[in-house]
Amino acid sequence: MAKRRASQELVDVAGDVSSVRITPLGAGQEVGRSCIIMEYMGKRVMFDCGIHPGLQGENSLPYLTNEDLDELDVALITHFHLDHCAAVPYLLCHTTFKGRIFMTHPTKAIFYTLVSDFANLSGEDALYSKKDVEACMDRIEVVDFDQTILVDGMQITPYRAGHVLGAAMFMVEVAGMRCLYTGDYSRVTDRHLSAADMPPVTPHIVIVESTYGTQLHGPRETRERLFTESIARTVRSGGRVLLPIVAIGRAQELLLLLDEYWARHPQLQGIPIYQASGVARKALNVFATYVAMMNQDIQKAIQFHRNPFHFKHVQVLKGGAAIDDCGPCVVMATPSMLQSGLSRDLFEAWCENSHNTVIIADFAVQGTLARDILASPTHVMSRQGVKLPLRAKVEAISFSAHADFDQTRQFLEELAPPHVVLVHGEFNEMMRLRTALEREATQKGWDRALHTPKTDSSIYIPFTQQHTAAVRGRLADEPAKAGQALRGVLVQQGAIDQILHPEDMSTFTKLTVGKVMHRQAVAVSKPFSEVRLALEVMFEGIEGSGCLPVKSVQPQAAAGSSSGGGHPPEDEQAVCIGDIVMVRHRPGSPALGYESHVVLEWAGGSKGDVVADAVLAVLLQAAGEPSGAAKAEAARQAALAAGDVAGALRAEMQLAGVLLAAQFGPVEVLEAAGQIQLQVDGAEVVVDHVHGKVTCASEPLRVRVEKVLQRITEALRPCALDFED
Ligand SMILES: [Zn+2]
Ligand SMILES: [Zn+2]
Repeated sequence: MAKRRASQELVDVAGDVSSVRITPLGAGQEVGRSCIIMEYMGKRVMFDCGIHPGLQGENSLPYLTNEDLDELDVALITHFHLDHCAAVPYLLCHTTFKGRIFMTHPTKAIFYTLVSDFANLSGEDALYSKKDVEACMDRIEVVDFDQTILVDGMQITPYRAGHVLGAAMFMVEVAGMRCLYTGDYSRVTDRHLSAADMPPVTPHIVIVESTYGTQLHGPRETRERLFTESIARTVRSGGRVLLPIVAIGRAQELLLLLDEYWARHPQLQGIPIYQASGVARKALNVFATYVAMMNQDIQKAIQFHRNPFHFKHVQVLKGGAAIDDCGPCVVMATPSMLQSGLSRDLFEAWCENSHNTVIIADFAVQGTLARDILASPTHVMSRQGVKLPLRAKVEAISFSAHADFDQTRQFLEELAPPHVVLVHGEFNEMMRLRTALEREATQKGWDRALHTPKTDSSIYIPFTQQHTAAVRGRLADEPAKAGQALRGVLVQQGAIDQILHPEDMSTFTKLTVGKVMHRQAVAVSKPFSEVRLALEVMFEGIEGSGCLPVKSVQPQAAAGSSSGGGHPPEDEQAVCIGDIVMVRHRPGSPALGYESHVVLEWAGGSKGDVVADAVLAVLLQAAGEPSGAAKAEAARQAALAAGDVAGALRAEMQLAGVLLAAQFGPVEVLEAAGQIQLQVDGAEVVVDHVHGKVTCASEPLRVRVEKVLQRITEALRPCALDFED
């Protein structure tokens, strides 16, 4: 086939409206226990499964019991922070969840370390054992950034989210609907991580964190200066600095900063910097392993054989016992929200001294001590219930690598999704962000709806499926007009669907066009003239455009058109109905061992199948006709042979009566009057057989009967016979 020019145009194929369900089981109008369900076309995805750091035991879990967890297809975990992943062992070991679960490589490595530590530290409130954590590691599958995986017909692609090592945003595509879940993300490059990626395709829904609402972080350099100056001031005046922070993630960013600052300020080098945590050393090993996933500064340092995570001025300690607490120092300790553990012990020991400083660098979650002290209370309550005066300085300098207002605004402007769902934000911050984003959309005339579902409530977002297909080949010769119907084959292959003329298939695709021929044999003992008559009555009797001519064809041609081959018997006859179905008649041949039969042949397809079905029905009806027809035909043949014209006419009238009865129901043959009388739907019809006249009060019925009679007469009298003589 000649190559056709690759002209093409894009057309929308169809539009169906259905809805996407979004249900936050946690992190709806709150920060903590991130867990969001997205359901579309029967596919269910869980984004994250974390705990609430401000709550204990089962209360800290997402509302897992309110979802049919055994119906979930997949869980996608964005990063290793406990509010995004610490409920995973519970999900895998203590619920009916049986779907697949994915994380990036570094997330899985650090998840194991942090979640085991969390299980150990939870004591009586533990949601699962260390054994459960071990058990779930085998079920967690890993995925690389930019790698698209197929799960149950869904396409899932993780992109870099900034935030912490290994943090991912997930784009999920279900039947043409794309939903992006950002998790925690940052669009700013820092000392060790790249900024979050801009996904290359526009999602219909973006589920985005709103932690910082409409706040702005200010330049990183300014925050770094405030941070290092505050620390330097404190230690120079003999004070101690407490940095409560998650042991892995932002901690390493701050250690890079402090190590470099200490290197540039030799007078500080006698003052120790400690990272005190059971998992800090493991964390450094993981960081040293995954340098390839960090930003260009780190790559460059590695090229010069310097691993920036081999710190010169930082001492990594396994616990609190080894801290030399007898003078100025900087201590990084967990947990970050001061709920318990070493950071809480040091806070209670140091908070009464006004020379000391506490710097909150992570986002402080509601309901935690870290959040409470930001409101500058005069006293705090110790874990033993003792009222302690708070004289130490408390500063909040954010290094938590969440997007601020400008980052979120620009990210959404570039992605331009029609629907934005805000999660991972406290009510007030979330509403401020919602109002600001709505105002911007209204001012600029953007099509953007904002949603802020509460935890454990669902929203339904309508989605109209827009199928786009390229029209190629001869179908694209004429530009398509709006609303114009297009007939072709829709080929779904490769990046874009195509609509093609069947004969262009092999030019534009690897597909070839084949024709399926059907052949069916039916035993028919009737003479072919009767078969043909029945077919003519059926197909030519249809008035209007539905009329299909029944044409004689050469049996040779008929045989040649089939794949049967061989020479047809001499007495074979054939007709073709509407050029669609070929009907060949083979009289029985005892010598060849077969009885009289009819063979149908047609090309597969809706039209051919329908016509073939109708032909088959006519043949089966003809085969089962009352014996009167055969008897009358025999009498007619005998009378004709004997030259008995009157007898032949009578027999023919009987035969016509039988054939009319087959079409219209019971008839009465009045031989003496030369009439056939019948009733159709209460209307009397009188057929004057001798003159071929039909009388009836209903004109349409009269015409119908007359046509049938005409066919019968033509079939019975191939040559004009004058019965009047
Ligand atoms: Zn996080
Ligand atoms: Zn978070």
